[in-house]
Amino acid sequence: MKAKGLTNGVSFNTATAYKDGRCVFCGGHECNDKNPCKWRKQLIEGGGYTEDMINSALQHVQDLLERVTVPYILLGDVVESIIKRGNLVGVKKIEVGIEERYLIPEIISSIKTQMGNIETESGYGYLFDKIPVEIKIIKRRYAFFEHPDTIIFRLQDYRIPNPIDRYLKARWIVR
Ligand SMILES: [Zn+2]
Repeated sequence: MKAKGLTNGVSFNTATAYKDGRCVFCGGHECNDKNPCKWRKQLIEGGGYTEDMINSALQHVQDLLERVTVPYILLGDVVESIIKRGNLVGVKKIEVGIEERYLIPEIISSIKTQMGNIETESGYGYLFDKIPVEIKIIKRRYAFFEHPDTIIFRLQDYRIPNPIDRYLKARWIVR
């Protein structure tokens, strides 16, 4: 089943992030790609996404999975970027994991009710403000998902693999 693309909110790119000749982020007339403010700089370096846009996508999937009441773990570039740099700058995709044992029929039907048919080959997926959000179903058992750690990022707490180093080394083989 292919993911149905959902878009929410307003999206910007470096060419359109102006209103009345002023930068939508800093309000400046002189702000452009050659001389960008810190927000425009993030948009350019992040391949079109600012850290706030990435964080909104993260909040969106967090709200969804909390409503569905299924435990999930932060994965991929999101967890690596928060752990290593303390931010989400340059992250291009949100990736979270749900262990297959938690996907009881009630949970599957609740995801469907909340989001429609968003099944993909590896779990679920959708676009939030053009940012891909991937909800991976983890089929095998991995030691680093058995006792997740918790981190706080921008006042929210998130479950992450434990130990994180072991996950980051193995992240490309997780299925
Ligand atoms: Zn600006």
